Amino acid sequence: MMIHILPDDVVSQIAAGEVVERPASVVKELMENAVDAGATHIQIRIEGAGKRLIEIGDDGSGIEPADLNLAVTRHATSKLTKADDLFHMRTLGFRGEALASVGSVARLTLTSRSTDSQQAARIIVDGGSVSAMDAVGGPIGTIVKVEDLFFNVPARLKFLKQDVTERNLVDALLSRYAMAYPNIAFHYIAEGKTILQTSGSGDNREVFAQVYGVDLARQMLAIEFEEEGVTIKGLTSPISVTRSNRKEITFFVNGRWVQDVALNTALIQAYHTLLMVGRYPLAVLFLTLSPEEVDVNVHPAKSEVRFRSPDRLFSAVSRSVKRTLLAYSPTPALTPTTWSQAPIRSEPAWDFSAESNRIEVPAIPSEPFSPSTYNPQNQPVELPSGAIPLMRLIGQIGGTYIVAEGPDGLYLIDQHAAHERVLFEQIHHQIETKIPSQTLLTPVLFQTNPQGAALLQQQLDVLDKLGFHLELFGPNTFRIFSIPVLFQKGDPIAAVRSVIE
Ligand code: ADP
Ligand code: MG
Repeated sequence: MMIHILPDDVVSQIAAGEVVERPASVVKELMENAVDAGATHIQIRIEGAGKRLIEIGDDGSGIEPADLNLAVTRHATSKLTKADDLFHMRTLGFRGEALASVGSVARLTLTSRSTDSQQAARIIVDGGSVSAMDAVGGPIGTIVKVEDLFFNVPARLKFLKQDVTERNLVDALLSRYAMAYPNIAFHYIAEGKTILQTSGSGDNREVFAQVYGVDLARQMLAIEFEEEGVTIKGLTSPISVTRSNRKEITFFVNGRWVQDVALNTALIQAYHTLLMVGRYPLAVLFLTLSPEEVDVNVHPAKSEVRFRSPDRLFSAVSRSVKRTLLAYSPTPALTPTTWSQAPIRSEPAWDFSAESNRIEVPAIPSEPFSPSTYNPQNQPVELPSGAIPLMRLIGQIGGTYIVAEGPDGLYLIDQHAAHERVLFEQIHHQIETKIPSQTLLTPVLFQTNPQGAALLQQQLDVLDKLGFHLELFGPNTFRIFSIPVLFQKGDPIAAVRSVIE
């Protein structure tokens, strides 16, 4: 084949591939535009998990009718004029690619009225072909409607995940941006139902409560940190609240959601030794630093950034979190009396019955399992699998570890972990028949985030088998009727929350 210049529509589709990967990326670009336009209200509507329809309306500054055509043209932007501006960006967008890209792989209708216009104007981009502009009625602001995403690139459609997954990504994205912009009132409707609605009051914790529930919002610790031009604000979990993965750690850098492994690690480091192995904190942190310190032009989707002094920043994150943890949980003075009284570990997620709190060597599980242990670098290593041997009980230290002697030496058994294992074995056996459940005296209401609610709703049958009977009660709210007998003395809400996790 001879070398030739690619036709414009092919170039656009290739470029679009980098910006528009899935419904959530469209939502992200359009929402960022609304934020850049200074909106105080943003309404988002999706249908068919965003494949059929994404519509975002805002009350921002709008676009001049004469500029409408440019807005949907590739590399046309009002946010940047020279390359040097890239290091002074105060807006989320700057590449001038989003609207053009979306328009080349979907049917895009852009309706906008600027503050100085008498009328709104509308332009349609259908799979890359731009219509003439026409005047329409409408309020100041912008409405972008995106229909039939990837209708003209079927290969891309095939790469999309199940609707549930695509939907979850949109939910997670909007929840995060709502937390980052508490001054903006977000209203998010999916498949005709309100999923998230914030007041725009400016209170971080209030939005956090909308997303994660009031209980959790109350427990979160506020971070306020400022040092050498770095400001860190946000909420981080106390050591009693943990998650089994890092998914609930969110970082915003200068108003932009960034996914950065090193930032996550810096945060987790601050909890080092305070959390059990395999448990992670939950946090939403907003970092503000001078725009010159961040290179935002690393990837077309702008979810990655590069820092000019990464080490300084990571250490600031770690220190800010450590300081907060210390401030909220002062270490008691280590006098001998407090030593013997103070439990070393924080309370378990729910109260186990008094009986099971007695110091006993846990029954040896009927099935072999491999307890984990630690090498000198404090990294967990797996013991060879097989049942643990018979042991002689020596005693207990710190109300936490059981000390025992086995055929090959000294054993330290984490009583809490061992107890969890025993309960796990019990449930595991019961599941083959039916897990006995206990009806609550009065049903309890449980609120979760949109993702949690979606997940619960899909798994109600499974939960029923596990002994949890619940039903949808309101937006993201469930009524718990009964819980497994095993948890009868505990907190039903904590139990359901752990199950969602
Ligand atoms: P970028 O955001 O990188 O500039 P886009 O393709 O997303 O590129 O948007 C192109 C231009 O259209 C923006 O620079 C802005 O001037 C205008 N625009 C897009 N969306 C909106 C909106 N919701 N409100 C006001 N102006 C908008
Ligand atoms: Mg943009």
